[in-house]
Amino acid sequence: MAEEFSPHATNPGDDEPSLAERLALVQARIAQAAARAGRNPAEITLVAVSKTKPFGMIAELAAAGQMDFGENRLDELWQKVDEAQRQDVTGIRWHAIGTIQSRKSKLAVGPFALVHSVDTRKLAERLNRDAEAAGQRVAALLEINVSGEESKHGFTPQQLLPEVPGLLALPGLHIQGLMTMAPLESEPEATRPVFRRLRLLLDELRARFPQGDWRHLSMGMTNDFEVAIEEGATLVRVGTAIFGKR
Ligand SMILES: *Cc1c(COP(=O)(O)O)cnc(C)c1O
Repeated sequence: MAEEFSPHATNPGDDEPSLAERLALVQARIAQAAARAGRNPAEITLVAVSKTKPFGMIAELAAAGQMDFGENRLDELWQKVDEAQRQDVTGIRWHAIGTIQSRKSKLAVGPFALVHSVDTRKLAERLNRDAEAAGQRVAALLEINVSGEESKHGFTPQQLLPEVPGLLALPGLHIQGLMTMAPLESEPEATRPVFRRLRLLLDELRARFPQGDWRHLSMGMTNDFEVAIEEGATLVRVGTAIFGKR
């Protein structure tokens, strides 16, 4: 069998940046975006989205100081939590960022820093019930469908407002802000209005429900995290720019 010519055949990935180098580049871009907006970069947490990637890559990044990781599937999240324990990698803050079917709400109660994707009243109530049964309080964000597109998960801004008092009253949930998935645009600038609308909604919630804790805006991914930071993101969820293509 003839071997195909490849300059990397013996030394794969020779000139590829390492994970730590990709991480440093994303951190630098975060700092620059924060500076443009007159924000302190320490207010912004980079959640490295490790879905589909092996635990070894997470361990390598943790060794480089990256401690926040996001997964969109709860079974994969739990596998990685177990793996961290087996390999004695400590200090990781795990984020559940993907859609959660309400019948699987129990799996979202665990050793997680934050559940970003509470997208219905029903899920909030089930999570509350499961958290109370486990003697926990789940830190959570409300997912908002800013554009109102049918295909998107989350509360529309109009749906959300009348629900807020009931959501804030659930003792098993500690709601800490809002999250959105912007529509995928080829031009990052095109997502700015979506991020701005989410920030304005957070401002409105702060004014109308001052008893709530409205500290977080989870918005921005590989394509558009710099725009999200300029518009006030406190959590950016970045996968591809760190881990490479999935
Ligand atoms: C996969 C995913 C991301 C990261 O996407 P990239 O484009 O790879 O940065 C962010 N948020 C959610 C909810 C995701 O599922």
